[in-house]
Amino acid sequence: MIGSPERFIKPGDRILIKPNMLSAKEPEHAVTTHPEIIAAVGEIVLDCRGRIILGDSPGGAAKNIKNYWNKTGISAVAKRLNIEPVSFEKSSVKSFKAPGGFVNISTIALEADGIINLPKLKTHILTKMTGAVKNMFGTIPGFRKGFLHSLAPEPDDFAKFVFAAYKQVVPNLNIMDAIVGMEGNGPSSGQPRHIGAILISEDALALDSIAARIMGFDVRELPMFKAAVEAGYWQWDSDPVDLYGDPIEEFIAHNFLLPDVSKLERLPDFVKNNLKRLIWIRPQANPEVCTACNLCVESCPVEAMSMVRDVPLIDYNVCIKCGCCDEVCPENAIEQKMSLLARLLA
Ligand code: SF4
Ligand code: SF4
Repeated sequence: MIGSPERFIKPGDRILIKPNMLSAKEPEHAVTTHPEIIAAVGEIVLDCRGRIILGDSPGGAAKNIKNYWNKTGISAVAKRLNIEPVSFEKSSVKSFKAPGGFVNISTIALEADGIINLPKLKTHILTKMTGAVKNMFGTIPGFRKGFLHSLAPEPDDFAKFVFAAYKQVVPNLNIMDAIVGMEGNGPSSGQPRHIGAILISEDALALDSIAARIMGFDVRELPMFKAAVEAGYWQWDSDPVDLYGDPIEEFIAHNFLLPDVSKLERLPDFVKNNLKRLIWIRPQANPEVCTACNLCVESCPVEAMSMVRDVPLIDYNVCIKCGCCDEVCPENAIEQKMSLLARLLA
C-alpha cells in the first residue's frame, strides 16, 4: 500500500535494520521487536539485493551484548539471514548539538544507506509511550543514553534529546510491531497486550500518532510530540495522517492500561499541587526476584543505587525516576511503587 520495497532498498544499499532490543528478554515478554518481524524484513532486504546491518544498543549492552542477541531471538534471526549483528558500542560516534547538550550517534547508523526502523508498540513510564521516534534513540551507544537522562530529568526536556537524535537518523521506513504490544508500566515491566496490527509509514511521527490513538493517548500529552512541534516537525492543529488498510477502529485497544505515571498526571491540577508530597510513584527492587546482577546499579545515571546485602537500594533524594534501572533489569525485579493516596486516586 505504500509502494514496493524497491522504493526503499536499492541493490547494494547497506540497510540498517533497527529493532527495539531494550532488555535481554525472550520475545513472549513483548519487550522487544518480535524476531519473526525482523526476519521477514531482513528477507525483503535480501530479495532487493540490499546488504543488512542489524543492530541496536540497549542501556546495558556494553556488558554483554551477546546475551541480548540470544535472549531476544536476534542471534537466531541473524543465523537465518546469514549475517552477524553489529554492536554500536564498538563503533565510533559523531556528536550533534541538542537543546541542553549533545547527542553522540553511532557512525554505523549515520553511514548506512538507508534505515528501516522496527519499533514495538509499548507504553513508557517516563515518556508515556515509546514508538518509532523513540526507537532511534538506540543509535546512541550504551550507557551514554543514561547520561542524557541526568542532563534532562524532566520528560519534556528528555524528549528534546530523543528528538535531536532522531533528526540525525531519520528512517526511510518505519514498521511497528503492534501484533502483541505492551500496556501498563512499559517499556520493560508492563503486560503483553494483543493488538493484532503492523503499522507502516515513511514518517515516524505519523506512525506514532496512530499508535498513540490505539493506546488511548492524546498526542498533546506526549513529550515526544511536544518536542516535535517545537522542532517544527509536527503541528497540533492539523492531522496530516492518511490511513490505508483495515480501519483503525478494529485495533483500538479498549481499556488499555496506561503507565501509572500517566494516570497521576491526569489528576486535576489542584489535587496534584496540594497533595504533591503524598502522591508519589517510585522504583523499588523486589528482593524475591532480584539476582543481584548489579546491572541496574551500573546503569543508574545519577548513582542513586547501591547494592546492600545483595539487593539494590535507591536513594530517593537522588533518583530522577528515569526508568533506566527498570529497562536494564533482566528479571523484572524493579517495580513501580505508588503511595497509598496515589493508589486510591489513580
Ligand atoms: S534509581 Fe532507577 S529510576 Fe532512579 S535515577 Fe537511578 S536508574 Fe533512574
Ligand atoms: S534489580 Fe534487576 S538489574 Fe538490579 S541487581 Fe536485581 S536483577 Fe540485577
